[in-house]
Amino acid sequence: MVALLTRAREKSNRQAAMTANLPTLKRSERPVAGALNRRLAPMLLAILLSTAGFYSAPTTAAEERTCGPDALGTSRVIEIDRSKGTAIGLQSYPRTLDLRDHEVVLTFDDGPAATTAQVLDALAKECARVTFFLIGRNAEGLPALVKRAAAEGHTIGHHSYSHPDKTLRLMSEEAAKADIEKGIAAVNKALGATAAPFFRFPGFADTPALVADLTARGYTIFGSDLWASDWSHITAKAELELVLSRLEKNRKGIVLFHDSQAITAQMLPEFLRELKKRGYSLVHIAPGDSPTPIVAAGPDWTSTTEPIIAKTLGAKSLGAKSLGAKSLRGKGGGGMMKPEQQPPAQGATEAPKAGAP
Ligand SMILES: [Zn+2]
Repeated sequence: MVALLTRAREKSNRQAAMTANLPTLKRSERPVAGALNRRLAPMLLAILLSTAGFYSAPTTAAEERTCGPDALGTSRVIEIDRSKGTAIGLQSYPRTLDLRDHEVVLTFDDGPAATTAQVLDALAKECARVTFFLIGRNAEGLPALVKRAAAEGHTIGHHSYSHPDKTLRLMSEEAAKADIEKGIAAVNKALGATAAPFFRFPGFADTPALVADLTARGYTIFGSDLWASDWSHITAKAELELVLSRLEKNRKGIVLFHDSQAITAQMLPEFLRELKKRGYSLVHIAPGDSPTPIVAAGPDWTSTTEPIIAKTLGAKSLGAKSLGAKSLRGKGGGGMMKPEQQPPAQGATEAPKAGAP
């Protein structure tokens, strides 16, 4: 066993060295390598061996051996340009990741939480890599889960420090920036490394100034292309059916879940199996130096989230329409699914009431 571990450690060191040589990665931005420096349980080490260098190696032979051909796996990695921020996700912005038909990117907000371990277990079983947008305050309380998520190959992004009920949009710019920075620092501290320059606004309530500030610093703002409505009072089965039906209509996209929601943790194993069964491929996103592959929405694009935000936050939220939606608007994008073609938000119960997503 000891010899096995020694060999494993040597192999791990070689793989870490390989990762270190990757031109697209800075040492400070390799959470997996950062986590390697800590003592790891043998099981964690085994998982690490299958995922080291994950930014450039989407599916390793080791992963296939671990999970087998029936697992969903991760089909490829899309690099998100860390030198040039943008704002993507059709529910809030008129552009999104240029995914192929039946490709999905899975994202989870509001963790780490009590249910996060269950979510990580389900993902590990399918060798599925996703992105977590963490609340800084939660990361402070559950740092082991932050490290575990990164060590298992997932990308770690940011979701503010306090997830303020009033949203960042209705705070003063100074207070909002302070909350964002405190969140970034808290997540990085829990991770023991620099997380990805990925940010999702709580409740999608951005402001032109905050979007401009973050994107100028290389942060990409993530909205979503569809969501699971897991903040609604629905059963796990209802959530599963809802998100699958939305996916069948969209045929691809960035999907928003909450690992803090018990129903999501509960339905996730079946959701991942269904993805595989229905011929979907899981795409992982990670920071890199290549241009972010983006496709623009069609000319009829409208925001799905702004009417919900207005309804939820009231008149005060109006007039803060995203700079990202205006100044970064691209051309073309014919054939892109328009938000209005997506299953609509189902009234007030659907709304990202203060706090959710
Ligand atoms: Zn949230």
